Amino acid sequence: MAATTTPTIPPPAPAVDAAALRAFLDGEHAEIRDRCRAWLSVPANAPRPGLALEEHRAQVLAWAKDLADAGETARGFPAEYGGQGQVGGAVAGFETLAFGDLSLLVKCGVQFGLFGGAVLHLGTRKHHDRHLADIASLRLPGCFAMTETGHGSNVQQLETTATYDAATGEFVVSTPHDGARKDYIGNAARDGRMAAVFAQLVVGGQSRGVHALLVPLRDADGIVLPGIRIEDCGAKLGLDGVDNGRIWFDDVRVPRDNLLDRYAAVDEDGVYRSAIDSSTKRFFTMLGTLIQGRVSICGASISATKVALAIAVRHAEARRQFGPPGDDGVEEVVLLDYRTHQRRLLPALAKVYALHFAQEELVARLHRVFTADEELDRERRELETLAAGLKAVATWHATATIQECREACGGMGYLQGNRFAALKADTDVFTTFEGDNTVLLQLAAKNLLTDFRDQLGELDPLGTAGFYARQGFEAVAERSAMREVLTRLADDLLPGRDDQADLGRRDVQLELLRWRADHIKSGVARRLKGGIDAGRDPFHVLLDCQDHLLAAARAYVDSVVLEAFAAKLERCEDPGGRLLLDRVCDLYALSTIEADRGWFQEHGRLSSTRSKAVIKAVNSLCGQLRPHAQTLVEAFGVPETALGDAAPIARAST
Ligand SMILES: Cc1cc2nc3c(=O)[nH]c(=O)nc-3n(C[C@H](O)[C@H](O)[C@H](O)COP(=O)(O)OP(=O)(O)OC[C@H]3O[C@@H](n4cnc5c(N)ncnc54)[C@H](O)[C@@H]3O)c2cc1C
Repeated sequence: MAATTTPTIPPPAPAVDAAALRAFLDGEHAEIRDRCRAWLSVPANAPRPGLALEEHRAQVLAWAKDLADAGETARGFPAEYGGQGQVGGAVAGFETLAFGDLSLLVKCGVQFGLFGGAVLHLGTRKHHDRHLADIASLRLPGCFAMTETGHGSNVQQLETTATYDAATGEFVVSTPHDGARKDYIGNAARDGRMAAVFAQLVVGGQSRGVHALLVPLRDADGIVLPGIRIEDCGAKLGLDGVDNGRIWFDDVRVPRDNLLDRYAAVDEDGVYRSAIDSSTKRFFTMLGTLIQGRVSICGASISATKVALAIAVRHAEARRQFGPPGDDGVEEVVLLDYRTHQRRLLPALAKVYALHFAQEELVARLHRVFTADEELDRERRELETLAAGLKAVATWHATATIQECREACGGMGYLQGNRFAALKADTDVFTTFEGDNTVLLQLAAKNLLTDFRDQLGELDPLGTAGFYARQGFEAVAERSAMREVLTRLADDLLPGRDDQADLGRRDVQLELLRWRADHIKSGVARRLKGGIDAGRDPFHVLLDCQDHLLAAARAYVDSVVLEAFAAKLERCEDPGGRLLLDRVCDLYALSTIEADRGWFQEHGRLSSTRSKAVIKAVNSLCGQLRPHAQTLVEAFGVPETALGDAAPIARAST
């Protein structure tokens, strides 16, 4: 067996300009990002840790109004309602806002993204004319009231009802029992005056599935309207500046026109009409239009991770602990010179770069799909898959990395005044709202496992399992098995394949991650088919394979993230920046492979020698990138008001 050598990976450029790197990261929406940075750079707009709950809520509302007055919050709206029709630009602005107070971010997300998005995408001209300008300016604070205490992830089973009364031409909105009260609803406890309420629509005694309609909650003076009951959710783990509440509807009557009727309408005579026949398809079509929220939270989690890494890296460049024994009088060593410290921070930093470029790709797709003149069904499905998968991976990365950065700053990281308390608490729930991560990965896997997403959307889990079995996965499985045999042969028998040098090659890295994604996907298909062929109940076969489905989705995300990074590098015109980012990309790829090297060995894709070489390569890359760590975090362009001014430990080395 060959001895382990370090893969051949050339060093990065000696020095790279952080400003040039930042311009490359900021991409086509640089101007919007800079406008948002400028707003965050005003000292009065900096995060204010330790504010009391009500004070924080009031501050957040005041900030949101200020942003609205400055025209920063409704970029995605059509121009006639105060926006600029810039879907991608709106997400870029939101991402940048995530450098600051995250309660403000979420408040804006609820008002302009969720409430505004529901009116824009589910409503029609009359709703737009009536409300969009007021939503954009925050004259009409509103809520997105979907979740109920009894149903969060399974939204199709919501129990609030909206029953059409043909005699009066009104809908009667009702909460049938406490489990059906709306729960966790942002903007409800204090400020919201209207809500986009998701309810089971009942017309002529027939249930038509979940639809959204506008229900006023408070009058202009903020007094709760008759028939509405609202309760404050109270203190949460984080996001204290957002007023989440619970809402009950006691037979509240709203005019027929309040139904957001882009996909289904009820006429004066009480006749229900929709261009989409299937209620399930209609429901998923409606949900699909709201995907911008998920994409936005994904980007925001990446920004929050950048803040944590910027603080931790700056601290690690300044903080000294220990030194070589016997060297009395010699300065102790800075934390970032320790390999363990590099190992803790730099692969996470590389992954944030990778996620940033994947998010850029995701946002570009979002923009394309939502601004195209025609319906791009296939692109829409791919967007949904990538958004679900990337949101899960990015928000989990935020949670893990912010914790690691806190620990990397020791006791100082634990002080509220150094930002980690808020970063940890406020981003925690990003893994849950805009789609619970575990549920989202199943959605991504389901999309991956079929080319016929629409057909699958019609099916319940039982039908889904049967569908998998019928759609020729046998062929996929056989192809995959053959590819595995061939690759093993190539790895084990062909001369030179045990050489580790090729691990530094992008095509080899890409091939490893793509192969894993493909292999796991076809493995799930094989298991589903095998279980069903054996006569087992399809629903339980599906349940047995759930962990496998999640692995398939994660592997898919890892490979598309590397693809996005590699593709972006091809467009980097600055040779120094390109060289540096090439190494960052290597670190992302190899640390991802390293994290699953047991799997790669089990499947014959890494010999033990090559597997050890991956560890050496990651160590070597950490050493190579160590001198560039500060440049890499400065390139994020986190305003000083949210960095050194807000976290004194991030001030020391600047
Ligand atoms: C701070 C905050 C703000 C929010 N703001 C809003 C808002 O403004 N408007 C709104 O409508 N909603 C809002 N929500 C609600 C949020 O969208 C839901 O909490 C989320 O969708 C999850 O639903 P749930 O809490 O009922 O969890 P559940 O669906 O009960 O999930 C609980 C656990 O079960 C797991 N699980 C569920 N289903 C499956 C399955 N099929 N397979 C395997 N595991 C499964 C999940 O992974 C999760 O770990 C907010 C929530 C919070 C905490």
